[in-house]
Amino acid sequence: MSTKYTRGSFQLMKSINRSVILNMIRSKGPISRADIAKQTNLTPPTVSNIVKELLDSQFVVETTQGSSQGGRKPTYLEINANQFFIMGIDVGRYHIKFVITNLYGELVEQLMLDIQAQPEANDLIEKMKEGIYQIMQKGGRNKDKYLGIGVAMHGIVDVNTGVSLFAPSFQTHNIPIQEELAKEFSMMVHVENDAKAMTLGEWWLGNGNDEDNIVGINVGHGIGAGIMIRGELFQGANFIAGEIGHMTIDLSGPKCSCGNYGCLQTLAAGPAIAQRAIKELKAGNTSMITDIVQGDLERVNGEIVFEAATRGDEFSQELLKQTGRYLGIGLTNLIHTINPNRIIIGGGVSHAGEFILDSLQETIQARIITDAAKETEIVPSQLGDNASAIGACVLILQNFFHGGKQVSQ
Ligand SMILES: [Zn+2]
Repeated sequence: MSTKYTRGSFQLMKSINRSVILNMIRSKGPISRADIAKQTNLTPPTVSNIVKELLDSQFVVETTQGSSQGGRKPTYLEINANQFFIMGIDVGRYHIKFVITNLYGELVEQLMLDIQAQPEANDLIEKMKEGIYQIMQKGGRNKDKYLGIGVAMHGIVDVNTGVSLFAPSFQTHNIPIQEELAKEFSMMVHVENDAKAMTLGEWWLGNGNDEDNIVGINVGHGIGAGIMIRGELFQGANFIAGEIGHMTIDLSGPKCSCGNYGCLQTLAAGPAIAQRAIKELKAGNTSMITDIVQGDLERVNGEIVFEAATRGDEFSQELLKQTGRYLGIGLTNLIHTINPNRIIIGGGVSHAGEFILDSLQETIQARIITDAAKETEIVPSQLGDNASAIGACVLILQNFFHGGKQVSQ
């Protein structure tokens, strides 16, 4: 290569090689230096130098496990997973969840704080800071043990600046989350939409492994999706890619918080299920729900409908089946647009999966235009209720192991 190396490009090359080696140890470890050189095409001296630095900084450790063939036991390298940690935050509608994971993304601490009614931007920032201090104290580790803070925020997020552009549940605009938290804690901070963070988390650590094109759907108070194409989250021109909750399903459907009518989330999100139940009960239908809420229909929510369905209430089971049909129509539109290998369903409503998934699959089967695409895999989230918070940690892990670049595995 004729390029003249400046110190800058040398440093850049070294940091790329460092990420390549770190990621090789993460995904293939325990692994020997010789195998790292073989599999990365880096020279043995380059590998040795970088591994020495990684050992000095305690990001990796040596281990002698593995087979010995009579001679000297080979030395393997693995990630020093419990030496450094990440904090993840999932900002929901009523609560903020805080987690700590190790370098493998394994959960080691968690904490939940309530959000006051109608919070302003500053209240949300202060609540995030409060929770970070609390969970750091709970974990009992020095601040220098943390590589960074990942934040999963509902609504529209500018991932380049870490600004929450719009959070519909709070009606807040332009909250500079990344700037505020980085200033307070002096560490790396990344912010992402909650459904996209969930999808990233599933891709790294859950049900998304090995697939290039996946879509994660978060069905809770609203509905959002993370679209991952060739191993990268797709943001779109204005960060609204994946806002499938506002896909129109029924032109004459209920009015949505966005101002349109019949959006998917007005038919299939948690509050929509509760509203439909209340409407039909008021119209004279009978159900176990009335007993559970002791006649106070204002108390009906998605969880209560699910509870009644689990206890054999046919009215609630039918309601959830109907929800599956609406979701199936939404996913049919999505499959015709993106054609993913796999769709992962998470969020609160996924708890009712056993009542929703069959009718959802049937709807897709009936509507998709090719036989092959009818077989699109639909699976539940593996990380469950922690998916967005752990996904937020993956924002930092990804930066650590890939130098900020998302690379297909
Ligand atoms: Zn809408």
